[in-house]
Amino acid sequence: MGACKECRAKQYQKWKEKNKDALRIYQRKWRKKNKKRLDEYMQQYKQEHSKEIKARNTANNHIVDIQPCELCGNPLAIKHHNDYSKPLEIRFLCRRCHWKLHNEKKEEVYV
Ligand SMILES: [Zn+2]
Ligand SMILES: [Zn+2]
Repeated sequence: MGACKECRAKQYQKWKEKNKDALRIYQRKWRKKNKKRLDEYMQQYKQEHSKEIKARNTANNHIVDIQPCELCGNPLAIKHHNDYSKPLEIRFLCRRCHWKLHNEKKEEVYV
């Protein structure tokens, strides 16, 4: 008791290291058990987002250079599509600006 955050983190690291194999087996078992559900989920996701996935793949294959966020300059930007039917027309946005943009769009739709 009374261990500080850092000590606890270290202890957890140690514990994880010691139980590496057990954890791996557990994860594998879990995945096996839930494979059907995961597959179903993936299938559903693919169906619902097929346009988006295709657009993202096309963009990833053709546009290799990542540019910084066009709104705030954050170098960790992702590719955002205004229109999934135009997979190569993208904007570079960081996660925060991207999230903001999508949120604003939602509002426009609902209002
Ligand atoms: Zn940004
Ligand atoms: Zn987006």
